[in-house]
Amino acid sequence: MNSPVPGLSSRAAEFVRRTHGLFIGGAFVPAADGRTFPTYDPSTGAHLADAPYAGPADVDAAVAAARSALDGPWGALPALGRSRLLVRLAELLEEHAAELAEIEALDGGKPVAMNEAMDLPAAIEHFRYYAGWPTKIEGETIPVHLPDTLCYTRKEPVGVCAQIIPWNYPLMMAAWKLAPALAAGCTVVLKPAEQTPLSALRLAELVREAGFPPGTVNVLTGDGETGRALVRHEGVAKIAFTGSTQVGREIAAGAGERLQRVTLELGGKSPNIVLADADIDAAVEGAFSGIYFNSGQTCIAASRLYVHRSRYEEVVGRLAGAAQKAEVGPALDRATRFGPLVSAEQYERVRGYLLGGLAAGATLRAGEVPPAAPDGGFFVRPALFTDVTPGMRIVREEIFGPVLVAAPFDDVEEAVALANDTPYGLAAGVWTRSLGQAHTLAARLRAGMVYLNSWASGDPGAPFGGVKASGIGREMGRANLDAYLETKTVWTSLAF
Ligand code: NAP
Ligand code: MG
Repeated sequence: MNSPVPGLSSRAAEFVRRTHGLFIGGAFVPAADGRTFPTYDPSTGAHLADAPYAGPADVDAAVAAARSALDGPWGALPALGRSRLLVRLAELLEEHAAELAEIEALDGGKPVAMNEAMDLPAAIEHFRYYAGWPTKIEGETIPVHLPDTLCYTRKEPVGVCAQIIPWNYPLMMAAWKLAPALAAGCTVVLKPAEQTPLSALRLAELVREAGFPPGTVNVLTGDGETGRALVRHEGVAKIAFTGSTQVGREIAAGAGERLQRVTLELGGKSPNIVLADADIDAAVEGAFSGIYFNSGQTCIAASRLYVHRSRYEEVVGRLAGAAQKAEVGPALDRATRFGPLVSAEQYERVRGYLLGGLAAGATLRAGEVPPAAPDGGFFVRPALFTDVTPGMRIVREEIFGPVLVAAPFDDVEEAVALANDTPYGLAAGVWTRSLGQAHTLAARLRAGMVYLNSWASGDPGAPFGGVKASGIGREMGRANLDAYLETKTVWTSLAF
């Protein structure tokens, strides 16, 4: 980094400028072949830092380190020891929250105030929540029919886990992945996205400071090839992946071949339904933040809005007005609510969907097509399309940007049909004052999560994940702990 970045504290600046290493076996080391790759500040497009690029030799070393920690000090640690370390890590994150919020803003373009208000607390509470689990992982005694026989089960860690995360909530995703795996007693090789390598490396320093045995957590920065080498490694027992459906399919196919355990948290095109009797103020607010939060770069973005025809113009008009007023700005500016998209590539992708929507005949009620080459940062203003038809690409495909499509419906049957007409099944929302309608629709919407008169509520204890093309398995809560445990059945003859 050549010049100081306005708004950056000296602690964060010092970290960003550092020569970064892969975190393998408790040490920060260069890639075996010395390769690095650049990471950029999406608010300016400027080069920020270089991160080490992990190749196959580094993947081998990280998996070996994870294996020896599992067979050594980490595996030998009692449950309470794992709890203590997870609590300590949560405390360290809390101590360094301001710095981490800045690193995240700088590397990924997420507004710093948002990181402080949401991402950091969520990551910290995730570690605290899972810190409570190690001491509650219990087997069972089974009342088997054989005489003089004791049969019981043990819950054992699955083994070395490959965890691959995306760029949209880098630190929070790292917490969602690491906490349950560590609570279960697994060891981990974590690969952050190439667009946002820095916060995971800072987290690795805190893992070391917390006192986790070397090799318990390893962090490999790199790109999709690094991820591919990692998931294909024969030493990896389980893969946990968050990202695109396309890569999820490839990972699941390979995991099937090798019979690795796998959980996938993939994309979405989530429907948000406003019934005629809804509290319109709340619905407009929920629909707005549901899609535009983090500039639409959220797997559970409420990207399809269906409104009863009697309220359609009112809702769409108010949303368009609010979207037109929304200001985009640099992520380190504390006043910014809507930062840039993460990369030039994502900017181009979203721009392509805006152009495609117009070409297909949809009306842009708010927002605009940004210039072909961004002038500095990768900013795209909140956009709202109306006059859409179900077959349009902007209605069917995950855009992962601040682009909402809205359409009216005439009755509840039509709303359910429109909502479920998607390959995805991550989240769905219903706004209504009728309890009966709300819960009837909650049962009929094909999604892993349904929000009634709300959007994006969450808690480390509440299962999170999708059906259909949105994934396999659940994060959060006991469900995600179980994804990192195997059940062993022990038979004992008592005749001796
Ligand atoms: P992606 O390619 O699926 O990337 C997600 C993670 O997987 C990154 O760490 C990536 O590494 C890694 N990866 C890529 N190819 C891999 C492979 N063959 N094997 C193992 N790991 C691999 O997603 P993206 O390209 O960053 O984003 C594309 C689209 O995916 C977005 O526009 C959005 O629609 C969707 N997406 C969804 C989520 C979500 O939360 N569900 C998150 C992000 C993106 P590198 O990034 O280093 O290449
Ligand atoms: Mg970056």
